[in-house]
Amino acid sequence: MTARTEDKAPARAVTRGTVVIDIDRCKGCELCIPACPPQVLTMSTEGNSLGYLYPILEPGCTGCTACLQVCPDFVFEIYRYDDPIDETTATEETIR
Ligand code: SF4
Ligand code: SF4
Repeated sequence: MTARTEDKAPARAVTRGTVVIDIDRCKGCELCIPACPPQVLTMSTEGNSLGYLYPILEPGCTGCTACLQVCPDFVFEIYRYDDPIDETTATEETIR
């Protein structure tokens, strides 16, 4: 019998948009983290120029604008791609 392994099948990451993060405006409130539906924002481990941790974007953004809407400090600009990018192969080397 052939057992199917999933070690070569990382979580599918289709990116439909991207965000520009003005990290030095961020106050580290973390409201954007749970607000992101695909959970592609994580907090940095180093502080910005004000000493606050700030969000970092991982593959899989949908361009939904939820982060922009929740952020009190106008940190995000949102862009949507005309053609989605399948980043599954790109994640093999960069994730886990
Ligand atoms: S635009 Fe939507 S999917 Fe992209 S980082 Fe912001 S909340 Fe997440
Ligand atoms: S919601 Fe805005 S201010 Fe708060 S952590 Fe996210 S980017 Fe920074």
